[in-house]
Amino acid sequence: MPIAVIGGTGFYKLLENTVPLQLRNEYGSVELMRGNYQGREVIFLPRHGKNHEFLAHEINYRANMKALQELGITRILATCAVGSLNPEIQAGDLVLIDQFVDFTSNRPKSFNKYSVDMSEPYCPQLRSCFLQAAKELDIDVRDRGTYICGNGPRYETRAEIKLFQQWGMDVIGMTNATEAVMARELGFCYAVVTIATNMAPGITAAPPDLATHRRVVQENRARLTQLLLKTITLVPEERHCDCRASYERALAARASQLKAGEGA
Ligand SMILES: [Zn+2]
Repeated sequence: MPIAVIGGTGFYKLLENTVPLQLRNEYGSVELMRGNYQGREVIFLPRHGKNHEFLAHEINYRANMKALQELGITRILATCAVGSLNPEIQAGDLVLIDQFVDFTSNRPKSFNKYSVDMSEPYCPQLRSCFLQAAKELDIDVRDRGTYICGNGPRYETRAEIKLFQQWGMDVIGMTNATEAVMARELGFCYAVVTIATNMAPGITAAPPDLATHRRVVQENRARLTQLLLKTITLVPEERHCDCRASYERALAARASQLKAGEGA
């Protein structure tokens, strides 16, 4: 079974025999790369497009996830960059987030067809693969964290950041809640390692700055890529989690609602 990786643009260069793929579905067209790593087929999806052409709210999350489903993907490993709201999380730190709060309103956020269980939004099996890989490589990964998903494209005000901190949020980004919801809605196993690239405004006096963000990503790219590649090798063929079953329960519940409605 192929594994999908969603992340920044550099990753696919480490795969073997890469070929570009272009898929079209009812939501739009998607550009991906297909390759191999240690005998395992890997599909790579550059989240923001091959040339970073899509801002967070412009990403066609539905087309992306549907394309992965059509390719027979069942597991997705993701990485994304975040700002830190927690002084214990410094620039360059890796955080395997376990919860999110969705604060977005400027994009399609769901396939809008049935209600899925999101109480544990990330796959426990893939999370433990990430942690095992980190342990084997001696890479520090914080194993919990709550992510708040902001609208973008603007950054937050100091008052917003203060509020999010009071709510107990650890990191902030603009993509992950949307991606995680749609992953669950299609029954994928999905987990994400985030990299903190800066402290959010209000925690630091420095304004958000793209050059710093790029530098931190660049400095940590090798570590993050190693972690991803190792994790790919540790994902077992069989799924021992509830991700697929919770999706099937959602489908069945919706079908039964519709049936009951028909009979009423
Ligand atoms: Zn799972």
